[in-house]
Amino acid sequence: MDDCIFCKIVKGEIPCFKIYEDEKVIAFLDINPVTRGHTLVIPKNHAATLWEIQDEDLMAVQVVAKTIVNAMKSIFDLLGVACMQFNGRGVNQLVMHYHLHLVPRSKGEPVPPMSSWDQKPGDPKAIAGLAEKLASRLD
Ligand code: AMP
Ligand code: ZN
Repeated sequence: MDDCIFCKIVKGEIPCFKIYEDEKVIAFLDINPVTRGHTLVIPKNHAATLWEIQDEDLMAVQVVAKTIVNAMKSIFDLLGVACMQFNGRGVNQLVMHYHLHLVPRSKGEPVPPMSSWDQKPGDPKAIAGLAEKLASRLD
């Protein structure tokens, strides 16, 4: 995609703080890091969202994420890693090229904002009804 910033990174047309590359995937540090080591893992093939990415690219991104998290474990005093991925403007996806955020939390850092929300019980009847409806679409 000509006007996609991450496609431009894939093609080497704009720079990035690259940490990994193979035939399907590139990973680089986020330029607005939520925590030290905040990384983005992206497929080289353009796809905007989870419902557009090819299965083999999705799997490749996920496997590379695991490798990178292991590298993070070796250099950070890691308390955990939040792995997040947004799909669509409605949930604040800003760059419309699929990307998985790896947000490590090291000792001394606060809990990343995206991994803490209020736990409020839902209506069990409504949850059960929805589970049935969704499951019926997955048969
Ligand atoms: P979102 O689409 O909501 O997941 O957010 C896009 C993310 O991409 C943000 O965290 C940005 O800081 C990051 N980002 C945008 N442009 C670049 C870039 N050129 N290099 C690294 N990270 C970027
Ligand atoms: Zn793209």
